Amino acid sequence: MTMQIVLATRNLHKAQELERILNEQNLEIEILTIDKFPNAPDVPETEDTFEGNALLKAVALSKYTGLPAIADDSGICIDALGGSPGVLSARWSGATENVDQANLNLVLEQMEAITEDKRGAQFVCAAVAVFPDGRQLISRGTVDGQITRAPKGTHGFGYDPIFQPNGLTKTTAEMSASEKDSISHRGLALRDLASQLRKAIS
Ligand code: IMP
Repeated sequence: MTMQIVLATRNLHKAQELERILNEQNLEIEILTIDKFPNAPDVPETEDTFEGNALLKAVALSKYTGLPAIADDSGICIDALGGSPGVLSARWSGATENVDQANLNLVLEQMEAITEDKRGAQFVCAAVAVFPDGRQLISRGTVDGQITRAPKGTHGFGYDPIFQPNGLTKTTAEMSASEKDSISHRGLALRDLASQLRKAIS
């Protein structure tokens, strides 16, 4: 029987990526987005790890809906900034409007004096599935790259225009959706989570 699973994110871009990647995994699941549950609680991300925050979101939504829930917590960790913004990636600039643009501009400003050999960064995604009976599946995907000097590309979201994966000559914002999914932190984490899910629901 097809199992309904709800995605614990209000970030439309993330929800689209999660749904797109999960739909390719041939799992017997029906994915519901959080807009089906307009009164679902907003969960403050109070943990200091990606896994901790992803679990907070998935546990709360699974409890609220009585359904299994999938959440991702993700961000960019920049070597020259001591691993920041990390779990604070979504809120790095403190802006409330044009948030992605403001976050990216702040990072470029903070990286201005940093030389080419020290511009390393990593996209990280913790993806989790939580079941109403308390079972938890956890997976992590990472992709190493460099922070560019200026934004390039219009696809994706967040820091995509300034992140160039190692060994490639374009940013993740210059990639098609399927190209990004094939190498991205979210793609890696979700494909691993999907194989854990397949075993858990068989
Ligand atoms: P959160 O997981 O909702 O706390 O937010 C993750 C934040 O990290 C996003 O708002 C983006 O700023 C950034 N981020 C995560 N994944 C990506 C990605 O695939 N591309 C660009 N930025 C990302």
